[in-house]
Amino acid sequence: MEEYEKKGTITIDYLRELGNIPSEERMKKGPVAMTECVQDIPCNPCAEVCPTKSIHMDNINDRPKVDFNTCIGCTLCMQVCPGLAIFMLDKSKEKPRLTIPYEMLPMPERGDTVRLLDREGKDIGEGRVIALLFPDKKYRSALVTVEVDDENLLLEARNLRVAGVKE
Ligand code: SF4
Ligand code: SF4
Repeated sequence: MEEYEKKGTITIDYLRELGNIPSEERMKKGPVAMTECVQDIPCNPCAEVCPTKSIHMDNINDRPKVDFNTCIGCTLCMQVCPGLAIFMLDKSKEKPRLTIPYEMLPMPERGDTVRLLDREGKDIGEGRVIALLFPDKKYRSALVTVEVDDENLLLEARNLRVAGVKE
């Protein structure tokens, strides 16, 4: 049994071992997808939808592997992922940006400062919402892009909470 199966959450070290973390150099070039899909499950819409064929899987049960060199950061894979298992990382702007799939309420608004949560749901900092896609959540997850002061949050923050909402 893998460590994450005992603990219930995955770690950055584990994702690094899998090669799922884009390099600093790549993140500085523009938005890039990072997958946190580590179980062998029959699912592949991310690979099917990718316009640059940057998500590789040997078969439908395989784990997705992103080619960071060809990924253009379009977010299409995030939009179709039923597992909320893809994030977008971007260090090309003045402040680092992270895009998180979000299916909770209340929905944040552009300009809001939101609390950022780690993989265990712990509050680890804040981000300012600079873009919001599909906030009506009718057919897919909302995609919330936040700007952060602390670049470590790009790898550590994986959910958010609208400020003022109790844990
Ligand atoms: S962000 Fe776009 S280009 Fe990159 S892996 Fe996802 S679908 Fe492909
Ligand atoms: S769509 Fe999401 S859950 Fe399905 S294989 Fe891709 S990353 Fe994993």
